[in-house]
Amino acid sequence: MPDPVSSLLAALREGDDARGWAWFLDLDGTLIDLAPRPGDVVCPPGLTATLAALDAGAAGALAIVTGRSADFAAALLGTRAFTIAGLHGAEIRLGERLGGGQPTAAPARPPAPAADHAAAAARAMPGVIFEDKGAAFALHFRLAPRMEARVAQAMDEALALAGAGYRLRPGKAVVELCPAGADKGAALRRLMRHPAFRARRPFAAGDDLTDEAMFAAADDLGGLSLRIGAGNGETRARHALPSPAAMRELLSRMVQPRA
Ligand SMILES: [Mg+2]
Repeated sequence: MPDPVSSLLAALREGDDARGWAWFLDLDGTLIDLAPRPGDVVCPPGLTATLAALDAGAAGALAIVTGRSADFAAALLGTRAFTIAGLHGAEIRLGERLGGGQPTAAPARPPAPAADHAAAAARAMPGVIFEDKGAAFALHFRLAPRMEARVAQAMDEALALAGAGYRLRPGKAVVELCPAGADKGAALRRLMRHPAFRARRPFAAGDDLTDEAMFAAADDLGGLSLRIGAGNGETRARHALPSPAAMRELLSRMVQPRA
């Protein structure tokens, strides 16, 4: 039996017909390893170079699709070269190969009372971390799993303060409040209308609940969906890899010349 990376590499090469792939890649837990604190993640050596080769090979049809802000993702990867759908698609910034520029949407910050409420709740719960993402904010409880119910309650209260136009998004040891309209599936569909992406087959990879909408959109458009890690519960992704390290191995082998 070939290992999972080799099997998937074969499937990617088989499906890499005249159209080629359009790459939609989540960041945390997919390309990079999760860290106990959201600010502690690091970009592994070689990842940015691999993504650059993939982006070049696809003539710019590559997007980082993340819950982080586009600025955070670009700073982590050390380049603004790539197209980034940040905040679950609430902000889309085209990469340098596609002309670059400002995010297509710069959503407003949630109302201050909502963010203040969540930040105060985090201060009262040891181990819970408040993350300000600009147009969204989150409470992380990876370091304090027993706080899950209190975090959920605090975020319900924050949502009531934020009012219409926002929603809660649960993830791995995190609850986030973000603009209601955006999701990763909508981001994929929107980018697939761009000329650089349009004629290609979407390949979507992610590790969390918020990636499921992206998997559904990729499948609907005749593409391929890939879940990284055990995740939380069921997934509709058609393929699986065990870890971000396996994902990085897949991509780095994908950009190497065929033997
Ligand atoms: Mg993720």
